[in-house]
Amino acid sequence: MSVIAIPEELLQLRESVTSFLEREVRPVEDKYAHELGRSGTIDRDAQLRERRALRRKSAEVGFYAMHMPEDVGGMGVGTLGVALVREAVTASGMLLAERGGVVPDVEGPTSVLLNLDDEQRRRYLEPLMAAEKETCFALSEPGAGSDATQITTRAVRDGDDYVINGRKHFITHGQYADFVQLFAVTSDADGNDLGISFFIVDADTPGLTVTSTQETLGEDHPAELLFEDVRIPASQLVGEPGQGFRYAMGWINGGRINIAAQALGKTQYLFDRMHEYAQQREAFGRPIGNYQFVQQHVVDSFLELRMTRNLVYEAADAVSRDDNARQMAAAAKITATETVGRVADRAIQVFGGNGVMTEMGLERLYRDVRAMRLYEGTSEILRGTIAKTLGLS
Ligand SMILES: Cc1cc2nc3c(=O)[nH]c(=O)nc-3n(C[C@H](O)[C@H](O)[C@H](O)COP(=O)(O)OP(=O)(O)OC[C@H]3O[C@@H](n4cnc5c(N)ncnc54)[C@H](O)[C@@H]3O)c2cc1C
Repeated sequence: MSVIAIPEELLQLRESVTSFLEREVRPVEDKYAHELGRSGTIDRDAQLRERRALRRKSAEVGFYAMHMPEDVGGMGVGTLGVALVREAVTASGMLLAERGGVVPDVEGPTSVLLNLDDEQRRRYLEPLMAAEKETCFALSEPGAGSDATQITTRAVRDGDDYVINGRKHFITHGQYADFVQLFAVTSDADGNDLGISFFIVDADTPGLTVTSTQETLGEDHPAELLFEDVRIPASQLVGEPGQGFRYAMGWINGGRINIAAQALGKTQYLFDRMHEYAQQREAFGRPIGNYQFVQQHVVDSFLELRMTRNLVYEAADAVSRDDNARQMAAAAKITATETVGRVADRAIQVFGGNGVMTEMGLERLYRDVRAMRLYEGTSEILRGTIAKTLGLS
């Protein structure tokens, strides 16, 4: 399968998750077969409700927090194991398995939250790992995306509190979160700038409003959050003031591998669909897969799938050993997210007119995978990262 030797226990873990997908997720997904067949998707509220129920089941068997260390109640599964599982989840093609249905998206626990102290862990991390609470990660702002160091949301120390003002946008799950992981520029009581700090803000804190849901090309619908004189106790600060950006970046390589693995699984799913269709669909008295121009779509996708898989596994292994992790995570994320875009395009071409019909479920993927080249580092920013590691800038 890959140049990386995958330990037997990780293959078994993937097998257990695949069984969970078939046993728990498939029957729920099948309830929506009619709706999926008509629109290619499932009503947004139903998606939210079903995923909540599924993620609780996943948490009960330990899958939901598998990537968290054992001392906080996780399974301590490393980056390679998590990548294998994420690939299997999206390769299933089940919409409800994605976005926190089985393993966490941004609504769930990440290693950034290991910076929480004991009391914060009890109030926020433990219920998150049990899938009893949900969160969101609020860094981006209208004026600061790729260059996130330029955020202007400000937390000013006032006695035993911080008072927060600012606006966050593109915040995935922002409208559903019980608490916000907020990154804000901090000033002490004398007005001295301390840099970016990390805070936990309960969603029901007065002054915090979800001002809009932002509609996109795909299934994402992030939120805009407004902070107007939001007063929180200083105990909601995580770790040291001014260290927030460092805490956020501590997660970045793992996050990029997660996206790469999800893109890889979707590529596998799309390849399987086009491969099958090329053998079944007939034109001019023969299966379309007999025609060389159609073969090129299938074979090129096969080649890119194999190359991407090797790179994603190699990068996941590198990240788990912290060996050239930044370069490898960037390489995997660029390659997998660009590959899935090309393969989705080819899948539609192989399906002909059926490819753009919502009932086939391919056009949804074609639209949905586009944003993967934007979040967790755009392809341009990541190329810059690799250029730096090559000593070019
Ligand atoms: C669906 C979706 C969900 C998201 N969810 C979250 C979330 O949950 N939390 C959160 O905090 N953020 C989230 N984001 C925001 C995401 O992280 C940003 O969109 C991303 O960092 C890019 O920032 P930007 O959109 O402001 O683009 P810009 O930074 O304005 O970039 C515009 C273009 O310029 C290019 N560019 C910028 N700087 C350079 C450079 N130095 N070299 C070369 N090219 C450059 C970019 O690659 C891009 O092509 C989400 C975004 C999307 C689309």
